[in-house]
Amino acid sequence: MADVEGSCACGAITVRVVDGFGDNAKAAICHCTDCQKAAGSLCNYWAPVLVEKLHVVKGQPKTYRSPEGKSMSGKPVQRTFCPDCGTPLYVYAEGVPSRYCVILALFGNNLEPGVEIFWRSAKRERVSLCPNYSDLENVD
Ligand SMILES: [Zn+2]
Ligand SMILES: [Zn+2]
Repeated sequence: MADVEGSCACGAITVRVVDGFGDNAKAAICHCTDCQKAAGSLCNYWAPVLVEKLHVVKGQPKTYRSPEGKSMSGKPVQRTFCPDCGTPLYVYAEGVPSRYCVILALFGNNLEPGVEIFWRSAKRERVSLCPNYSDLENVD
């Protein structure tokens, strides 16, 4: 597949996903409390991308690294965002070192949802945000 590029709200940062997300790529809806705060919303909407396939091609993002033991896995989580407009860009969970979780709003939320995770943090327990996707996988 061709590379795809996405940018933050102000346009200062552009990221590239080499070879795109893949034909069968699906989005994850993450209800964890850290994603709720980072997104300023009910949840985060992202897709996994191998670390070697994600490149910042314009601008200088900033990264916040959570302290040991504060994330749901216990391992630090790095959240990268645009320092000018605050748009979240991608997340790196140090407990899952092979990939980034790339925020799909940068790309126009271009993928269909495939999984909803961390339901135990959701305020709307088991009320799917995507009720029309009957094959949506659910993970606590
Ligand atoms: Zn920006
Ligand atoms: Zn999350």
